[in-house]
This record gives sequence, structure tokens and C-alpha cells, in this order.
Amino acid sequence: MDFLDPTKPIASCESETCDDCSVSNALHCHFARRDLIHFFLIAFPPFLIGGAGIYHFGGWMLIPWLIMIIGYFGFVEIRVMCSHCPHYAEEGKSLKCWANYGAPKFWKYRPGPMTLFEKAIFLGGIALVWGYPFVLLIADLQLFLLVVYSLTVAGFFMTLITFLCSHCMNFACPLNTVKSEIRRGFFERNPGIARAWTIDAKQ
Ligand code: SF4
Ligand code: SF4
Repeated sequence: MDFLDPTKPIASCESETCDDCSVSNALHCHFARRDLIHFFLIAFPPFLIGGAGIYHFGGWMLIPWLIMIIGYFGFVEIRVMCSHCPHYAEEGKSLKCWANYGAPKFWKYRPGPMTLFEKAIFLGGIALVWGYPFVLLIADLQLFLLVVYSLTVAGFFMTLITFLCSHCMNFACPLNTVKSEIRRGFFERNPGIARAWTIDAKQ
């Protein structure tokens, strides 16, 4: 498994080095294996609990869910959300980041904001992937698993938004919570991205 060289600025960045960068601590420009493991540790519990509930309802009902998961995280989310991420501009045919590691890059890089339509698809996909087990757990009256599933989903999104989305360099994502002064510092070093956001990085 390989990741970006942590000593070199990312492809979109015009700085010579990350050493004196004012946003290097606040933003996650480079990823390592521990970031991926951290993400898997918070992301997997809802899938295991939700999958167990769906299996109890009827094993064949796992098939549409798996198609949704692979279709969304492997293709749809990559097109509508990740193709706006500075990490997407790196060399290579697949992503090497902390969340969608290995997802194929079939589309061109689109710096700048997501359109309303893209945001709707992104959020609609989230509702489908995490909502499908909810519906089946309720229909099957699996109340214990429903409570545990709800807690793991809430824990996942709270951890994601509080600790990961607050450091993510994809400002286009609706879940991104990076503060505006940090965004400005990043734009100053990534003027191509700043232009795509129609922001003058010198201001
Ligand atoms: S913005 Fe800063 S930390 Fe990120 S790649 Fe550029 S110099 Fe490095
Ligand atoms: S938006 Fe997140 S998951 Fe997508 S490429 Fe960027 S860091 Fe990876």
C-alpha cells in the first residue's frame, strides 16, 4: 500500500516545501496507513451491524445493499465529490487517501465547488447507503440491532465531521468544516484551486 511522500507538497501546491506551511497542522494534505485504519475503525461498525440485521431479514437483501455500496463509494461519490478534491489531482489511476483508498479515477479533476445537483446526489447516496438497513431493521422489528445500528451510525458521522472533515482539504464537500482563515492559507499555496473558487489568493 503506498501513500504520498509526506515531505513533498501535493500536486496542486506551489510551495517548495511543507516545512514552514502555516496550515500543515490544520489541514490533512498527506495521508498514511494509520489514517486509513482510523477511518476503517469508525466506518466498519455500522456496516457490520447493518449487514447482520439485513442478513437476519433475508440474505438476498444484502445484494442490493452491496451494489449500492460498491456503486456509490467506487464510482458515484468519486465523480460528484472526490473529483473536486485536491488529492484527485495527484498522479495515478486510483485514490490514495484516508477514506476511498483504491477507488478508480475515471473522471477529470474538477477543482472548485460542487454543483447543487452534485451535492444532492452525494447526500442522496449517503441517505440510501445508511438508510437501507434502517428501513429493514424497522420492518423486521429488530429493535436491539436498530438501537445499536443507530448508535454506530451517529458515532461514525459525529467522529467523521468533528475530527476528519474539520481537517479535510476538499472544501467542496458539504460535510467540510474547515475554517475560512485556514482555507485562505491553503488557497494562497494553491492558486489554481483558488482561481477555481474565484478567489484571489493574494487578498
Ligand atoms: S498546503 Fe501546506 S501542507 Fe499542504 S501541501 Fe502545500 S505546503 Fe504542504
Ligand atoms: S474527498 Fe476525501 S475521500 Fe475523496 S479524494 Fe479527497 S480525501 Fe479522498
